[in-house]
Amino acid sequence: MDADVVVCGAGVAGLAAACALSIRGLRVLLLEKQAEPTRIAKGEVLQPGALGVLREWHVAQRLELRGALRLDRLVARDPAGTPLMALEYDRLRDQERCLLAHDYPVILEALEDRLDDHVELRRGVLVRDVLRETTGRVAGVRITEGGQEREVRAKLVVAADGLSSRLRKVAGIEVRREEYPHRLAAFDIADAPEVEQDFSAYVSERGLRLRYPLPGGRVRLYVQVEPDELRGLGRDAMARWIDELVRDTPALAPLAGALRASAANRQVLPVSRFLAPQLGVPGLALVGETGHAVHPMAAQGMNTSITDAECLARHLGGELTPSSVDAAVGAYQRQRLPELVHIGQTSHNAARMITDLSWSGRVVGRRALRCTGGNERLRYTVMHNMAGLGQHRLTVLDRLHQIGVLPDPRAHRLPTWA
Ligand SMILES: Cc1cc2nc3c(=O)[nH]c(=O)nc-3n(C[C@H](O)[C@H](O)[C@H](O)COP(=O)(O)OP(=O)(O)OC[C@H]3O[C@@H](n4cnc5c(N)ncnc54)[C@H](O)[C@@H]3O)c2cc1C
Repeated sequence: MDADVVVCGAGVAGLAAACALSIRGLRVLLLEKQAEPTRIAKGEVLQPGALGVLREWHVAQRLELRGALRLDRLVARDPAGTPLMALEYDRLRDQERCLLAHDYPVILEALEDRLDDHVELRRGVLVRDVLRETTGRVAGVRITEGGQEREVRAKLVVAADGLSSRLRKVAGIEVRREEYPHRLAAFDIADAPEVEQDFSAYVSERGLRLRYPLPGGRVRLYVQVEPDELRGLGRDAMARWIDELVRDTPALAPLAGALRASAANRQVLPVSRFLAPQLGVPGLALVGETGHAVHPMAAQGMNTSITDAECLARHLGGELTPSSVDAAVGAYQRQRLPELVHIGQTSHNAARMITDLSWSGRVVGRRALRCTGGNERLRYTVMHNMAGLGQHRLTVLDRLHQIGVLPDPRAHRLPTWA
């Protein structure tokens, strides 16, 4: 296929880029190194901002038809389950007023089903390097397919090859990843007793426990753990570990039996964050985790991958020439980088409030959750930001209200912009 754009990586960012670009009439070659679609669980919760984009593409509707669950609230709770801060998404004054949850492979399938005949998806193709013009501008990629090395030329290369991106490195964009000191143990709990239809983050003495329902009577539970906490635990030791979990977070007690039965399929995931200093070089743009990663606690990563793709495509109007492409990549970077700085900071602050186990971190974190929870103006602002519907930065004064150092005379009103 003679393509305008070659997209490398068919995760959520690459598939979203292929959708966004093909809808605008561009011919896209989408290359993925895995021969089969992934089955791993890696993000299931879609925020209203990304959902609006997916609805325009008719992907949100496909997810709803496949049984996606509406979650109306994002709630931080104490270990007994009492809400400390409830973000009620159904109070948003926007078209999309909920979170939508489905399995990551189903989200990828729904995006793939949306691809039209402007897109050719080839699996089992490893992208090895970029091709460059004599000026140094990226002009395509070098691939290995079926044991053969080949060159593919395109007007734009979109790097969507994930966290450890090879393309980012060969493009010369260096990133500094900061690892969080904990891991997240992910449990997919089958045959679970019914839980509330919300995204609940429990704040325990040992950190975050995150729980939400999934289609098919399942529940997703993420538990903050020490790096080696679950290593080599057999059945009995795991049962004792679950008893301990229920002691520190009694609200999870109803799930304990089903959790024991599902515990063998756990995954333990490292967590890190970074933002690339630039989102492109001439002829190449970064989207999704190739360019940025955040703590999963605020459910932002997959959502920003989708909105990156839409933002890049919006800047690529008209006929593609090297100068129009490079201008579009520049405009994408100028718009997107400050937004990603804000999203990264918001996610990090939200994660710190719950995962920081130091004495001062715990005191400030609990206080910030309670004070934000009791302040309508701040609560709406935080919800709007997390929902991906716009960016309203908190001022220094807001931060002082947030930790209860200064009373807020506007605490009982919605923000003026709402
Ligand atoms: C535990 C966990 C929970 C999460 N929960 C949420 C959530 O609830 N909501 C949310 O919004 N986000 C969530 N995220 C984040 C989200 O999963 C990621 O932000 C998102 O998946 C990134 O997608 P991506 O397409 O950029 O990268 P990836 O999913 O890593 O896709 C990259 C693709 O590129 C392919 N590839 C790599 N190298 C090459 C190559 N050289 N040639 C060809 N192909 C290549 C890979 O095989 C892969 O298919 C979570 C993440 C984790 C770890």
